[in-house]
Amino acid sequence: MPNCSHDEQDAIMRAKRELILYARRLGHHHLVMGHGGNMSARIGNAIIITKHGVHIESLSEEDLVIIPLSSGGDMEYLASVELPVHRAIYLKTSSRAIIHTHSPYVAALAQVVRRYFKPVDEESRRAIPLVPVVEAPPGTMELAKRVSRRAEEGFKVILVKGHGVFVHGDSIREAYTLACLIEHAARTWLLSIHGGFHL
Ligand SMILES: [Zn+2]
Repeated sequence: MPNCSHDEQDAIMRAKRELILYARRLGHHHLVMGHGGNMSARIGNAIIITKHGVHIESLSEEDLVIIPLSSGGDMEYLASVELPVHRAIYLKTSSRAIIHTHSPYVAALAQVVRRYFKPVDEESRRAIPLVPVVEAPPGTMELAKRVSRRAEEGFKVILVKGHGVFVHGDSIREAYTLACLIEHAARTWLLSIHGGFHL
């Protein structure tokens, strides 16, 4: 961003490093694969977001683009197709980081869940007792509207029917923790309804 202060430039550099660090962790834990998923951080009036079509698990600085929080910006065409969702969440909440994944158990859960998902394991129940489900095609303003409405209501984890999950938080670390937690919650729930393993 050309008009950024020194402090903002520093914050942008730190956010980029953190996005890369947690992108690798998402990959390491198999929460992102190939072109699936995207992530961003907000610094002041700017969004640092992954570019369209990048591999999150091997993210580098060149895979990130900085665009204005409000609409517009010459570089917008480079950003993830889910930019409208990221932008809408930032505009309606005080969150500073967003992660979107199609992690395996979340993707399976998203096929079968209806209006709300209630985790069954104690750890997830305490952190995310109720997870709303929205439905709209990927990369659309309709999806942005539906997800951000739930975010504005205070939900930090929002499932998208047949698709995946958006999580957001005060930091990249918090968003990462929530991405791990919803995958764990989905896995535990799916194992429990199918009777688990026969040991
Ligand atoms: Zn997606």
